[in-house]
Amino acid sequence: MGGMSLFRDDGIVLRTQKLGEADRIITLLTRGHGRVRAVARGVRRTKSKFGARLEPFSHVDVQFFARGSALVGRGLPLCTQTESIAPYGRSIVADYARYTAGTAMLETAERFTDHEGEPNVQQYLLLVGGLRTLAAGEHAPGLVLDAFLLRSLAVGGYAPSFADCARCGLPGPNRFFSVAAGGSICVDCRVPGSVVPSPEALLLLGALLTGDWETADAAEARHVREGSGLVSAYLHWHLERGLRSLRFVHKA
Ligand SMILES: [Zn+2]
Repeated sequence: MGGMSLFRDDGIVLRTQKLGEADRIITLLTRGHGRVRAVARGVRRTKSKFGARLEPFSHVDVQFFARGSALVGRGLPLCTQTESIAPYGRSIVADYARYTAGTAMLETAERFTDHEGEPNVQQYLLLVGGLRTLAAGEHAPGLVLDAFLLRSLAVGGYAPSFADCARCGLPGPNRFFSVAAGGSICVDCRVPGSVVPSPEALLLLGALLTGDWETADAAEARHVREGSGLVSAYLHWHLERGLRSLRFVHKA
């Protein structure tokens, strides 16, 4: 074989970049190989069906051709064949709220998979499930996004608490909330900068984390907004810390 390998995997297209006259670099989150970048040749020609399948949000089955057995290293693998599994992009890009929620999901999935070629099946399944729900239009796009973000944090090992005290475990509901402390905290454990969210917003976030859509869909708009603000603060706090540690690793 001379150090060449052929493998198949299914994945979600996270983004695409132009390469030369007619080619693209496709970034995918795959089931078996984690985040993969690969070159798709000729996809920018107008009549390429191959290219149409490789748009962001698409769920595809791809055959890759790589030099050497390692996925990353000398040169990117080539996408040699693709089959569409589900073209979620059609429904998602046609609606602005779905599109912005979906774009945030793709970006977060990429941030949560730091290392190319390292499988992250849970994150992959979360993304497939989230895009399917978003494309079906069964729930408000903002709720689908927040559910995805909370579960991505949980899969990454940063599950926030929305009831029991994140520090001492005192059964909830607890009145205070701190991003740095890991979510809900009791009066004894509260730290400077703790906030006091509405009980309804905490109930909503707990429902989104566990997939209780009946409770989540019934939430009032103001509690949805408040919940989104907490999710966003929680996510950014962890992502910033993640980036800082990553920079340190690269310098060492
Ligand atoms: Zn406590």
